[in-house]
Amino acid sequence: MNYIRNTKALQEQGLISADDTDLLNRVAEKFQISLSPEVIKNIAEPEIRQQYLPTKEELEIQEEELNDPIGDEKFTPVKGITHRYPDRVLLKPLHTCNVYCRFCFRREKVGQADEILKQDELENALNYIRERQEVWEVILTGGDPLSLSADKLASILDQLEAIDHVKVIRIHTRIPLVAPEKISDELLKVLDREKALYMILHCNSHKELSDNVCFGIKKLSRAGIPLLSQSVLLKNINDSVEKLEKLFRSLVAIRVRPYYLHHPDLAQGTSHFRVSLEKGRQVTSELRKSLSGIAQPLYVLDVPGGLGKVPAGKEFIQAKDDKTWKIQTIHDTFVDYQDYL
Ligand SMILES: *Cc1c(COP(=O)(O)O)cnc(C)c1O
Ligand code: SF4
Repeated sequence: MNYIRNTKALQEQGLISADDTDLLNRVAEKFQISLSPEVIKNIAEPEIRQQYLPTKEELEIQEEELNDPIGDEKFTPVKGITHRYPDRVLLKPLHTCNVYCRFCFRREKVGQADEILKQDELENALNYIRERQEVWEVILTGGDPLSLSADKLASILDQLEAIDHVKVIRIHTRIPLVAPEKISDELLKVLDREKALYMILHCNSHKELSDNVCFGIKKLSRAGIPLLSQSVLLKNINDSVEKLEKLFRSLVAIRVRPYYLHHPDLAQGTSHFRVSLEKGRQVTSELRKSLSGIAQPLYVLDVPGGLGKVPAGKEFIQAKDDKTWKIQTIHDTFVDYQDYL
């Protein structure tokens, strides 16, 4: 089985109808399509299909939806680096992923031109880190850093390890969920490091945890890599107590500690995935009653405009009226947040 990267192949596989092809071609002009063999194998599951199969709803761009929903641009001192919090930076060596999730908060960026940092750009980004003693942690993200060749990834990790003040390396990835065959002995060797290397797996439904996927994740955990997860709260995919409970229990049972549950960002053409803050709070507080503490991620909202993530509970966010919320940011300032539902 091969990757599917266009509407023609989707139609050939019987995943979309000929009638829809014109509209979906318009979607594809704006947002890339990619489904991996592992995803295609499980595409009959609605929770998987909705994450990867393009739909005409994506053409409905709402006024409030943003090109840069979490405001990364302001915090990009050099290409490939996002530095919002003092002690940690994002390093984005590439903008491509093996799959393209329909709700991606970086969908304006991923899969577009300028896909991989050029050698001198990467060097500049690494120099930025070298010159800043306060950078304690480097978070490799993108794109999917595990889409890099083993050599390239090894070279980046070697260079990061050589920076004395960088004590922790974190990799955010979806590869173990969508391309488990990539967890090879060669990759495990590249990931075997002296410094602490954490991996955060992006997983939104227990349906993603097929036998193949669990096998790959077990290899990572046997290799001694601490594994955490992040999930996005998505309408119809996981926005119920039952579904989230199943997801988090399944993760903990394979030694993955749920870390964040993200409130969906205001990315373009994603309104059909959106869940209200009210609903998100209701399901997460319900979970508090029934679910083991080690299976509870923190529910967070990334405040538009680059103001950072805040816990979505009552401590930091209070209702002003039906749809407006008052948020206390990480800078202890207050901003209004609109729930567009
Ligand atoms: C999310 C994010 C991080 C990581 O935040 P943690 O709360 O440490 O997981 C770091 N930098 C940027 C710019 C981010 O958006
Ligand atoms: S894997 Fe992550 S960065 Fe890539 S398309 Fe999906 S959500 Fe976006």
